Amino acid sequence: MENKKLVIAVDGYSSSGKSTLAKDFAAKVGYVFVDTGAMYRAVTLSALRNNLFDAKNNIELEKLEKLVEEIDIHFKYSKEEGRSITYIGDELVESEIRNIEVSDRVSYIAAVPFVRRKLVDMQRNMSKESGLIMDGRDIGTVVFPNADIKLFVTADVMVRAQRRYRELTNKGENVSLQEIVDNVKKRDHLDETREESPLRKAKDAIVLDTGKYSPKEQLDWLMKLVDEKTQSAK
Ligand code: C5P
Repeated sequence: MENKKLVIAVDGYSSSGKSTLAKDFAAKVGYVFVDTGAMYRAVTLSALRNNLFDAKNNIELEKLEKLVEEIDIHFKYSKEEGRSITYIGDELVESEIRNIEVSDRVSYIAAVPFVRRKLVDMQRNMSKESGLIMDGRDIGTVVFPNADIKLFVTADVMVRAQRRYRELTNKGENVSLQEIVDNVKKRDHLDETREESPLRKAKDAIVLDTGKYSPKEQLDWLMKLVDEKTQSAK
C-alpha cells in the first residue's frame, strides 16, 4: 500500500528555522512546501511600494483592501534554490521580501483581518495530494487545525537573530545585529498579541528547539516522526 500523504503544520517564532526544516523535508520526500510568511511579506512589499504606511506604521486600509484583492502572489519551483520562490505577477521578489524594511512592517500587515482571510483562503486551496508541509504562525491553529503533524518551533532569541543576521549580511545587506534582535523581538510580540489568529502553540503540537540540534538532526527526527505516523495509519 502506498504511504499516506500527510499535511504537516510548522509554526513558531521568527527566524526559528521553520522554513529550513520544512524546505529540507519537502526536498527529501517530494512534499509541497509553502512558506506562508513569504505571502504576508509580499503583501507588505506591495503596500510599501504603494506608500500605504505612515511614519507610525498606520496603514491606509481602504487602499490595502483593494491591493489585497488584486495582488497575484504565487510560487515557482527553483532548481538552484531547491525550493519554491515567491513572485508578484511576473516579478521575482524572493530576495526583496526578506529585507529589513519589509521585516519591520510585515507584522502590522499580518494583523489586518481581511489580509489574513484572503491569504488563509489561498493557503487552504494549496495542493495536498502530494503531501504538504506549510510553515507560518497559525497553520496548526487556524489554517489546518486537523493537520496530521503539528510542530511548534522555537530557539533562544540570540540564536534566531544571529541566524537572520548571517542570512542578510551574506546577501550584502547593511544591518546591525542589534537591529535584527530588535526586529525579531518586536515581531514575536506583535504576532503573539494581535487579536486575529495570534501566534500560539496548538494544544497537540510538538515543541522543537532548533538551537539544540543541527539541521540534519532535525530532518532525521522529522523523517522518523512522519514514518511512525504513516506506519500507524496503514
Ligand atoms: O515566517 P516569516 O518570519 O517570514 O513571517 C513574516 C511575518 O509574517 C511574521 O512575523 C508574521 O507577522 C507574519 N505571518 C503570519 N502568519 C503566518 C506567517 C507569517 O502572521 N502564517
